Amino acid sequence: MRLELPGLFDLQVNGFGGIDFNAPDLTADRVSEALERMRATGVTRCLPTLISSSFEQFAASARALARVSDAALAGIHMEGPYLSVEDGARGAHLREHIRPASIADFSRRQEAAGGRIALVTLAPEAAGAVPLIEHLVSTGVHVAIGHTEAAARQIDDATAAGATLATHLGNGCAQMLPRHPNVIWEILATDGLWASLIVDGHHLPPATVKAMVRAKGADRTILVTDAIAAAGGAPGPYTIGGVRCELGDDGRVSLPGTPYLAGSALTLDRAIANTSRFTGLPIEMVIPMASTIPASYLGMTTAGTAVADWDPEAGELQIGRVSL
Ligand SMILES: [Zn+2]
Repeated sequence: MRLELPGLFDLQVNGFGGIDFNAPDLTADRVSEALERMRATGVTRCLPTLISSSFEQFAASARALARVSDAALAGIHMEGPYLSVEDGARGAHLREHIRPASIADFSRRQEAAGGRIALVTLAPEAAGAVPLIEHLVSTGVHVAIGHTEAAARQIDDATAAGATLATHLGNGCAQMLPRHPNVIWEILATDGLWASLIVDGHHLPPATVKAMVRAKGADRTILVTDAIAAAGGAPGPYTIGGVRCELGDDGRVSLPGTPYLAGSALTLDRAIANTSRFTGLPIEMVIPMASTIPASYLGMTTAGTAVADWDPEAGELQIGRVSL
């Protein structure tokens, strides 16, 4: 079945096609190369994502991103460093870089990024989170909660302060949770929070994806890749910032020797196909979750169009020509 889709929009991508946005030697040319390679998967706009790191490392990557004038770069997603310090919730973010939330620290980072930070993921339980959320929202920056062990009250406070998204729901939380209450149920039940999901078949089992999409509603579900440089590459060792990780033959990206996932090798076209298979929703209902819905979440628009062939039997989506 031939489809025409709006250009896809990825709110969370750490690297692509061998290029790591968190690398200390990132250049604007390398970013443009990554954006070009991403375009072949239908993605015409994205938020390159910088994970928790020292100010110097963050500033180096952010300056390179800020020099890119390509409209495909819709802003920067700053994930951390104001996250949970706990193992599991912290995921692949290094403990040494986790900080309390601070308007002064954020302002320095936003200045280095030339004002391009459009989305911040933080943990509501980080000290200083609520005043920082209020500051971010008042300056037009969107706020997501993630990498968190927040209690219901802290999630309510963050939402009341202006947080509107849960980053990669079901990941970036403790390996073991009480059956209820727990952070996943609280987020699912908080109507003010949209949710982003990593639907690569490794981060969330199919039934979890189906239940989460039903709980949030198709119109408030956003598909992200959380891809690292390994996306579009061969199995083997990669890095995200200074952190070593490995892409296995099964497509899983993990921290070697641990059970922890470290981003993905997912592409957004495959996320759409997987979500349609896992939820049973028609492809036409899933495509917006990776295009118009993330764009409208940010108050932005998608760019360009792509043609694609969809094989519902095989659950395969093949992106063809992408026009801007
Ligand atoms: Zn994360």
